[in-house]
Amino acid sequence: MATAELFMDSFHTLLAQCAEYMESSALETVRRAYAVAERAHHGVRRDAGEPYIEHPLAVAQWLADRRVMVDCVTAALLHDVVEDTPVSLQRLQHQFGPVVAQLVDGVTKFEVLEDPNAGDELARKRDRKRRQQAETFHKLLVAMMEDPRTVLIKIADRLHNLRTLGAVSPERQAAKARETLEIYVPLASRLGMGEAKYELEDLVLRYTDPRRHAWLSGLIANKRDEDRERTQTTVRALERVLLHHGLLAEVRPHVKHLYSVHRRMLETGDETLDEMADFITYTVLVPQAFDCYDAMNALHSQWHQIDRRLRDYIARPKLNGYEAIHTTLFGMLDYPDPFDVHIRSFAMQDIADNGPVLVAARHTSGGWRARVQGLEWLTQVQAWQHELALPATELVAAVQGDLFRDQIFIFTPRGEIKDVARGSTVLDFAYRLHSDLGERCSGAKVTGRDGVMRLEGHNYILQDRDMVQVLSQDDTHPTAAWLRAAHTHHARDAISHYLHAHNLPTEEAEEDGNYPDVTEQMASVRLGYCCEPMPEDRLIGVVAGQRMVVHRQECRHAQEAMAAPLSVSNGHNGDTPERGARQWFRVRWETVHPDRFRVSLLLTGMDRNNLMRDITAVLARYDLNIVNLGALSISTRYKAIIRITVDVKRPEHLRQAIQRLRNVEGIVNVERRQRVPPAAATQP
Ligand code: MN
Repeated sequence: MATAELFMDSFHTLLAQCAEYMESSALETVRRAYAVAERAHHGVRRDAGEPYIEHPLAVAQWLADRRVMVDCVTAALLHDVVEDTPVSLQRLQHQFGPVVAQLVDGVTKFEVLEDPNAGDELARKRDRKRRQQAETFHKLLVAMMEDPRTVLIKIADRLHNLRTLGAVSPERQAAKARETLEIYVPLASRLGMGEAKYELEDLVLRYTDPRRHAWLSGLIANKRDEDRERTQTTVRALERVLLHHGLLAEVRPHVKHLYSVHRRMLETGDETLDEMADFITYTVLVPQAFDCYDAMNALHSQWHQIDRRLRDYIARPKLNGYEAIHTTLFGMLDYPDPFDVHIRSFAMQDIADNGPVLVAARHTSGGWRARVQGLEWLTQVQAWQHELALPATELVAAVQGDLFRDQIFIFTPRGEIKDVARGSTVLDFAYRLHSDLGERCSGAKVTGRDGVMRLEGHNYILQDRDMVQVLSQDDTHPTAAWLRAAHTHHARDAISHYLHAHNLPTEEAEEDGNYPDVTEQMASVRLGYCCEPMPEDRLIGVVAGQRMVVHRQECRHAQEAMAAPLSVSNGHNGDTPERGARQWFRVRWETVHPDRFRVSLLLTGMDRNNLMRDITAVLARYDLNIVNLGALSISTRYKAIIRITVDVKRPEHLRQAIQRLRNVEGIVNVERRQRVPPAAATQP
């Protein structure tokens, strides 16, 4: 039978792979495990129609490809028989020994019983499902502490389940993807299983947001092509220098992973790749750990390096066992921009891809245990141990809180999950779902973790795990006020675009509504140096004859003009004052259209060597021309206060530069300097 040959093929591929590193007695165990699993799952098919046995075979294959020892491969083949077939744990223990039985038990779903008092049938089902999920995770954690290799099987299992999720309903896809993002991605990350983590993340985005996934894939492919020549030149230059220093090294360019790009965009709001300096990193692979330092010295002797970006993860490995030297170089002849270089040995690369537990699992019993003992991440798991007494659902919440930081998760009414940047509002979320939805968004029904549903407006800041149903109305459209309710650049850009396309004001009008465009009638319009107006400001044009000077509304000059009586007539000829001869007007940035504007920034932080150099580098990068710069350093407290006045050509450059400045090491605060103190509100 053709199908029989097909799954014999998968099995023989596995066996051939195992034969490369296992002894014949171990191969015999793998063969026996396959026989038991094949018989147990016989006649059962997966959602896509293939025989069920293909799934445990694929899980075992993934582990065998990484040369994991026989216990794990055996347990992988048997991992679903206790859960899904009549084969008992006792039987496995009898036939394959306690280690394999324990590994299988660790990945077997925890059975919970329905609470007959938990409301109607649907509520009972939901409650059971939720407790089942939590208890299963709880069980996995306990099993992990006993034998950390359990989680390798669980992650390989999840990886294959996600890869083959295409045939199931969108609801189940979303539920699986959500669980993966909440539990298995952070676990893989903590275990240092780089390859598995990246693939899981990629698959999650593919199921939860296929449009965005496709868009990002295209964007990344384009950028990679664009950068090809520079990448190749850089690889050759690195290799040349290393060879010149007598180092046998391999240089591999590495494109940032799709999900990492996605996450960075959520963090920065920048939906392009232009500013993503670490889009390509260069991995320098050397034979031995000590070669890493030689390679670093060789590269540093050839190019400039950014001191504060140098990281020695060999001296101080990351919690998940990751080791490497990270450095940032710049000053290459044709391509002067900085680029990141990661230097590691082949063994360190293995740890980066697979994590220390998987690497340890290549050793036979006893050998691997010694290798995982004292691993920092295990200490972390043990730190959760005191939480293990908690009810399982609370444990899951506690552990997740520890695993996530800058991202929050929002549920849609259909049970989909979306990750958004912390601080996002209802409006941001609506635009994140779809720009059409954003444009018609009138608010949202938000159900918080307390289970209470509330009606919220555009500017409600979403909380982790809110369930959000965006409300829309056909007669709702973006207005200038929306710009204040949106925090992500994606939403702000979409709103600005809409306002421009529909010729709507991009500044919020006061109660007097639309204001006439008077700037055209002026001989000259310029921005006031006193208050340095910017595009986001409310602008007041103060008229003197045929000239207009534009001030911020808060500026003393604007306030004085606005407070003055409407008449500008001197009353010399005794006439009644001429009404309507106004001295001031609200104006829009677009009608002033200055080709540049001036702004002063106040930076505070800790003084250090090269701080000024790093600051001016950022300014130069965004084409901000320094007009004036004054630094004041209070040396006793190492506190730096820096005033900088710059000329800005494009407002978005200023925004991006400020964001970058905030990330300069030592800088604590960047704010626009209020050159004119806001006029006191004296009116009742
Ligand atoms: Mn499975």
